Amino acid sequence: MKNILYVVIPCYREQEVLPETARRLADKMRSLIVSGRISDKSRVVFVNDGSTDGTWAEIERLHQENPLFSGINLTRNRGHQNALLAGLMTVKDMADMVISMDADLQDDINAMDEMVDKYLEGCDIVYGVRSKRTTDSFFKRFTAEAFYRLMNFLGANVIFNHADYRLMSRRALEGLAEFKEVNLFLRGLVPMVGYRSDTVFYERSERFAGESKYPLKKMLAFAFEGITSLSVKPIRIITCLGMGVFLVSLVMLLYFLILFAAGKTVQGWSTIVISVWAIGGLQLLAIGVIGEYIGKVYLETKHRPRYRVEQFLHTPEGDSDDREGEECAPR
Ligand code: UDP
Ligand code: MG
Repeated sequence: MKNILYVVIPCYREQEVLPETARRLADKMRSLIVSGRISDKSRVVFVNDGSTDGTWAEIERLHQENPLFSGINLTRNRGHQNALLAGLMTVKDMADMVISMDADLQDDINAMDEMVDKYLEGCDIVYGVRSKRTTDSFFKRFTAEAFYRLMNFLGANVIFNHADYRLMSRRALEGLAEFKEVNLFLRGLVPMVGYRSDTVFYERSERFAGESKYPLKKMLAFAFEGITSLSVKPIRIITCLGMGVFLVSLVMLLYFLILFAAGKTVQGWSTIVISVWAIGGLQLLAIGVIGEYIGKVYLETKHRPRYRVEQFLHTPEGDSDDREGEECAPR
């Protein structure tokens, strides 16, 4: 049977939202199956990203109750991007198309219909794009928009207002699997895979329950990760800055020579002190940015695993009545 859809959802401490997310997704999947757009072998896969609460127990319960739900348990918390990749890579050989979304129901699941339709029309990647951000707080909206602008300015081309809500076909996922980098920034990598793509607009609502796992500190780290993973423009900006500062110092030298020749001694040490501090600061900044890139090279050369799956609870597509499922328990 064709058109098997897998929905991959990374979950970190989401025990409050999971039951509702599961209920709504079960309805949505049923309606997609009934309308004949996806196969009845389709699945919803929750990836537990080393949660410290009852998230995994909840996923196990959902799997027991309904073979539609599968679960992947990671050995520890690896962050949203790695958890998502773990899910995508685990299911890529079982599905024809995979939709990734967050556990908190902020992404409108009704956009899934349109995503599947675009896939059926021949698209390999369908990006979910937020049409408005009215439900986010002013602060979140402002920082998020500044983030996209800064990213694009610094040479990391990401799709405006697209997070990780998207559909990818199996061959697009195979393309993504070729990217071996440890410093993961999926929304920057997916457009690099290529293939025919399209966008679907939806309105983002408020978090259904629980709280955001992306406080400002994590958002800044994420923005930094995105920029340094996708572009070397910051290094180039530093080079230009260095040249600019050097030119200014040449002009200053000339100016002071003229003053000296005219017999006017330069007075005031403040100018000197300020410039020493300014240049010192710029140099430290420049070294810091270069250091960041060297740090990345260091991490990449280690080829460390990006995630490790401890357990995969899954009812194989062949017999959806088999409630036992396929379990890979750790030994
Ligand atoms: N998440 C994760 N690992 C983490 C942090 C978050 O898997 O270390 C998941 C989380 O469960 C959710 C998604 O990533 O499904 C997005 O997180 P959240 O909704 O907290 O971020 P926000 O929407 O506020 O940016
Ligand atoms: Mg969220």
